[in-house]
Amino acid sequence: MSRLRADYHTHTIYSDGKATVMDNARAAHEKGIKTLGISDHGWGHGYFGLKRKRKEDYFKEIEEARKVFPDLRILISIEANILGADGAIDLTPEEMEEFDLVLCGYHFGSKIRNLSDLWMHASNALHKYLGIGKNYVTRRNTEALLRALDHPIDVLTHPGDKGPVEIMPIAKKAAKRGVMLEINERHHYLTTEQLKEIKDLDVKFLLSSDAHTPDAIGVVEEAYKRVKASGLDVKKIVNLKGEE
Ligand SMILES: [Zn+2]
Ligand SMILES: [Zn+2]
Repeated sequence: MSRLRADYHTHTIYSDGKATVMDNARAAHEKGIKTLGISDHGWGHGYFGLKRKRKEDYFKEIEEARKVFPDLRILISIEANILGADGAIDLTPEEMEEFDLVLCGYHFGSKIRNLSDLWMHASNALHKYLGIGKNYVTRRNTEALLRALDHPIDVLTHPGDKGPVEIMPIAKKAAKRGVMLEINERHHYLTTEQLKEIKDLDVKFLLSSDAHTPDAIGVVEEAYKRVKASGLDVKKIVNLKGEE
């Protein structure tokens, strides 16, 4: 059994997950989850984003899984990509409207539009692997995420993964915009330190597995430990079963 009522963030073979929509639905059902988000990577991911031309198949498979598991609420979701320092996202607002829930995060491997995008990835990689340029990348990443929050997204995934950010201004803007911040099992962000910093803001959080295999669906034990270590009030987390 999972401690989650809803796991909003799971991947399938439509992006880099290992199983089908039906497999994810079955696993969620077996683990006592009531709401499942199928949230493959957006089409702006160069290597394994959901292909635009496969979108109808994606929707159809989710519809089929809904019929097989009528007690499970399955959301047609997507994990959109922040493409660069200007906060551009790989889905237009009109495209976002087709989804029940729009997650959005910064990933390496998103399609590069110009030199500025290339430099954002390169400077983050230099920081990550060589430990240089921390102040510079922190400022640029923070700007990118703040601008991304101007788009009609519902959830900001793993803020700080792939490059450091200043979490306080991001969390303040997320609160203002009604965007939820993710505490991600797989990527270890938000971290305990980030949670401590922003736990008193009026912002909502969600815990998610970011499962790429069915066995990982609903598993958030490491993320939950971060929550406990930070002192965050679990009432601010929207998808726990409760009675924590
Ligand atoms: Zn992600
Ligand atoms: Zn993901």
